[in-house]
Amino acid sequence: MQNTDEGIKVILAGLLIDGLGDSPTKDAAVLVQGGRIKAVGARAQVNVPQDAEVVDCSSYTVMPGLIDTHLHLHKANVAFYKNYQLAQIVYPPSFFMLTALRGAQIMLESGFTTVRSHPHFLHYEPRAEVEAIAMRDAVNCGLFPGPRLLVGGRYVHITSSHFDLTQPRLLSRADGVTADGPWELRRQVRENLRTGSDFVKTCLSGGGGTSQEEPDVRNMTQEEINAIVDESHAFLKPCSAHCFTPLSQKMAVRAGVDTIDHCVFTDDEAIEMIKGEDKFLVPTLSHRSDRAIEARMSVHTPEDTILKMKRLQPICWETFKRIHQAGIKIAMGTDTQVDPEIGTNAYELELYVMLGMTPMEAIQTATKNAAEAIWLGKDTGTIETGKYADITVVDGNPLSDIRILQNKEKIKLVFTEGRLAVDRTGEKKTNILHQPIANKR
Ligand SMILES: [Zn+2]
Repeated sequence: MQNTDEGIKVILAGLLIDGLGDSPTKDAAVLVQGGRIKAVGARAQVNVPQDAEVVDCSSYTVMPGLIDTHLHLHKANVAFYKNYQLAQIVYPPSFFMLTALRGAQIMLESGFTTVRSHPHFLHYEPRAEVEAIAMRDAVNCGLFPGPRLLVGGRYVHITSSHFDLTQPRLLSRADGVTADGPWELRRQVRENLRTGSDFVKTCLSGGGGTSQEEPDVRNMTQEEINAIVDESHAFLKPCSAHCFTPLSQKMAVRAGVDTIDHCVFTDDEAIEMIKGEDKFLVPTLSHRSDRAIEARMSVHTPEDTILKMKRLQPICWETFKRIHQAGIKIAMGTDTQVDPEIGTNAYELELYVMLGMTPMEAIQTATKNAAEAIWLGKDTGTIETGKYADITVVDGNPLSDIRILQNKEKIKLVFTEGRLAVDRTGEKKTNILHQPIANKR
């Protein structure tokens, strides 16, 4: 991201949550220069230069910018399309690039300073990553406002994978859309990374949502996932895997996958292995919530899919409690875009608290843990000296009520690398991005 703001500024905080999990600091100060944090602490302990610009947030809470490690900016959204499944076939990839750009801007305005966007799937286009990467570059170089974007480009997956089955079964697939065998899959990883993707996303089990298969089928072999992870790591990129089942979680751990996503079903052995290898788990509970189910019901989703979503919800809730109690590291991810829609991401944290996390733990899943899970832990995720000044300023205390983070009017200021990107402290302005869409496509 470009940063031309070399001036020094001090952000005065009524309450500082630094993301490290300690008790918050009252009356704190954060000194920022060149996009990075120069000093942080109690106001009396921070040496503020005379010429520093003062940003007075002494009536607000200052916290690290939020991070969602798993959403899909490029997918068709239930809020936007009368039939989102049909939309995937009717509208061109460039149209989804523009809706993704809008989604990125909404994320920034919602207090998110980093977003990892997972792939989208087009049965006719093996190079589905091109638009995602173009949009990322346009935002990250400053052409358009948005959070720091990481994109996964295309899926790396087998024929008849869960991702493959989210598209109508009888539509023919273009060559290269799926791959089978270790070397074909290695080639998919290499091509995806050559185009410029930031990480590799693959799939080890069936899923919920749109696809018609049972969630507990196996996708790919151990040899195939080993090849994918080996190739990702050879190019110094993390690998994320869709894993609904204990078998898929164990395969992921054996292969060295970096984030294990969804974790619907699990067992003691899988929990022990994930914990033993210190892997991050990304729950994506929003996607299992009543809100998601209601959104699907409004767009003619087949009844068997709705029933599957309803059946999976209590299992997901129970699994979340088990992995949390086991002490497994959890990184926040929502799976938003199909449902519920982009901009409702902080609802995920309310679900974590509902299922037993403290608000501080929930905040850490979307700050420190999320940054570490996507290999950005050295640069963002906490308010510490040396890190990027990715900062969200909130009117109220999310430790008292985590739901505050869902209220965009309470997100008063957002800084990305020290630059002011969102400001709701002045007169109320018309916010185009949050006006409802008049006509569904
Ligand atoms: Zn997903």
